[in-house]
Amino acid sequence: MENNKMTMKDGNLILAEALKHQGIDYCFGIMGHPVIELSMMMQGVGIQYLGFRNEQAACYAAQAYGYLTNKPAVVLCVSGPGVLHAIGGMANAQVNCWPVIVIGGSCPEDHEGIGGFQEYPQVEACRLYCKYSARPPSPGLIPLHVEKAVRLATYGRPGAAYLDLPATLLRGQISENLIAKVAPCPPPPLIYPPPKLIESAADLISTAKKPLVIVGKGAAYARAENEIRNFIGSTGLPFLPTPMGKGVVSDYNENSVASSRTSALLNADVIVLLGARLNWMLHFGRAPRFQNHVKIIQIDICPEELHNSVSSAIAIQADLIPSVALLTECLKKRQYSIDKKNKWWIQLIADGQKNKQGVQRMSADTSVPLNYYPAFKTIQQSIPTDSIICSEGANTMDIGRTMLLNAKPRHRLDAGTFGTMGVGLGFAIAAALYCKDVDPKKKVICVEGDSAFGFSAMEIETMFRYKLPIVIIIFNNNGIYGGTDKETFKQIQTAAEPTKVISPQLLTAGTRYEKMMEMFGHRGHYCETVEQIEKAIKVSLELGDAPSLINIMINPSADRKEQKFSWLTESKL
Ligand code: ADP
Ligand code: MG
Repeated sequence: MENNKMTMKDGNLILAEALKHQGIDYCFGIMGHPVIELSMMMQGVGIQYLGFRNEQAACYAAQAYGYLTNKPAVVLCVSGPGVLHAIGGMANAQVNCWPVIVIGGSCPEDHEGIGGFQEYPQVEACRLYCKYSARPPSPGLIPLHVEKAVRLATYGRPGAAYLDLPATLLRGQISENLIAKVAPCPPPPLIYPPPKLIESAADLISTAKKPLVIVGKGAAYARAENEIRNFIGSTGLPFLPTPMGKGVVSDYNENSVASSRTSALLNADVIVLLGARLNWMLHFGRAPRFQNHVKIIQIDICPEELHNSVSSAIAIQADLIPSVALLTECLKKRQYSIDKKNKWWIQLIADGQKNKQGVQRMSADTSVPLNYYPAFKTIQQSIPTDSIICSEGANTMDIGRTMLLNAKPRHRLDAGTFGTMGVGLGFAIAAALYCKDVDPKKKVICVEGDSAFGFSAMEIETMFRYKLPIVIIIFNNNGIYGGTDKETFKQIQTAAEPTKVISPQLLTAGTRYEKMMEMFGHRGHYCETVEQIEKAIKVSLELGDAPSLINIMINPSADRKEQKFSWLTESKL
């Protein structure tokens, strides 16, 4: 009898051990009923636990960690509202194709259907936002579902997985010998391309007059940087990164045609699409942003993605590492390469020059209140080139993407495919943990629009608690898209009932966000000039174990450089 008791385990311990056994290193969450013991058990088995201020931010952090490391992290939520808050994060992970595992406590099974505390149909609610949503039927089967959650989150096209743990299951005891024994999930298999399709792709590239390579965040997740760098190096092809595809091949590489993006997309006759989708971010691959008959060579791990939006000339379901390596070899054998004297290259370089001049002009205007460009130019000049940049906002993100360069892959985290605001601080926390583990000298710079920052501003406390040296920079233009100056704002506010006269995009003008640092005994930085920005960044980069906040006043009516096509331009056919 005594012996038997020794071998009993409860659901909390079984789950914590199963997660550890599957290689989970981090849990991000908010503890509370019924997962209080579970959070402690997780820490007890050696999983690092970070408590957040909102489940959504925790979920953003966990998925960014998954993207940066290929290893899923766990989000822990309380029942009902806790899980519902995390759903925004799950949707973002799923749309971005990033792995994450969400674990929700739920009300005891014997309270279900009679109005249990925070009772909610969580498995059903999460199903739409993930690849796998399940409730283990008994404590002994928890390890099996944990392995499956890890496998589904990381195999094929990555995404979210949800596990539901009722209080009764977490408390439930079972003899150790009845617990399912499950091996750790091996890394996903590397899928090779059919050699014939690689030959056809090489044929098509060789005959193209205006070839272009597009590098997406799938290439970053695939860790195909060496192969893609070799491919660009040996063929001389122009490439265009998507926002988070930046850095797979360095933005400083002279084959980047980022500054002639519009013209490159519009004129290309053959496009090699590497881990990117032809969705809104790439204008659906259609006219008027692309040639009507552009030939696409598409390589994607996900077969269902092939031919989406436009039919690809060559569609390859395979991993990017072997595919790009084989394609490079194939083209090398044919001695294929193009150089900058090629007509296509001459056109791209000329178009790029015009754009660069426009940017230079706007950056040179350092009059106060600043416009975006000189502020970004100063940041770009003041931060190390291998910094991880997290960014969100409207103009802040769009202009920042062109002004802040990435030398390395997976060094940019932004609002992504789902266009989600509120991701920045969670992403930055994950990036800071990643740096701490892998390269402690590397810096994390979190560039936020003032509105975007507000979604998860309280995570600053999380950063202080875990001693994470993140540099938060706020582009404060007093509103969403744009705002108004302090004086005008005051006048509007006093003119009549504020709800009737403050226009929907406005936020309080001149908010001193940097003073939030004083809550933790630190000082933030308030900047109006480029000199002040430069100084603030210098001081902030020296802080080794605490976040810093730089609040930059941006002209509330400053805008982007004029664009050839309006946002979301699509075919009217
Ligand atoms: P972006 O936003 O940069 O355009 P997307 O997220 O739209 O990128 O597309 C990334 C694509 O990469 C997805 O279709 C995904 O299936 C694919 N992908 C992810 N991992 C791999 C891999 N290892 N090999 C090939 N394709 C991958
Ligand atoms: Mg703003």
